[in-house]
Amino acid sequence: MSAPTPPFAEERRAELVSLHASLENLINRLELLLEQRANSPPAYSFYRGILLNVKGKLQIVSWELRALSIVEERLSRVDIVKDGDDCAVCIDELKIGDEASKIVGCSHIYHKECIARWALVNHTCPMCMYDILQ
Ligand SMILES: [Zn+2]
Ligand SMILES: [Zn+2]
Repeated sequence: MSAPTPPFAEERRAELVSLHASLENLINRLELLLEQRANSPPAYSFYRGILLNVKGKLQIVSWELRALSIVEERLSRVDIVKDGDDCAVCIDELKIGDEASKIVGCSHIYHKECIARWALVNHTCPMCMYDILQ
């Protein structure tokens, strides 16, 4: 069972989706400009350089969106059954009733929001460095 998506992940996804759309739009415009400048070599290579750069950025954004989905799949909701363990992200106690997530793969447990924020950036378990994307 996968954890309900934390608001932080939702915001990040919305940001990436909107960035993805803007980059695609920009690529379309640049490709059009390139067609129009086909017989003007300096302008052509200028716009071509920008186009390649923007395409590189689009790949990074696509990759981040995929990583986000994988991270969400590999954090599963758990119930805290006893007080006393600490969340290694915020160093605060995991208490009965807290929203918590377990990393599928190494089984380390954190507050849901803490590990979502950490994992979306680092893609590792803070305690054992397990690679969440592997
Ligand atoms: Zn925490
Ligand atoms: Zn771990």
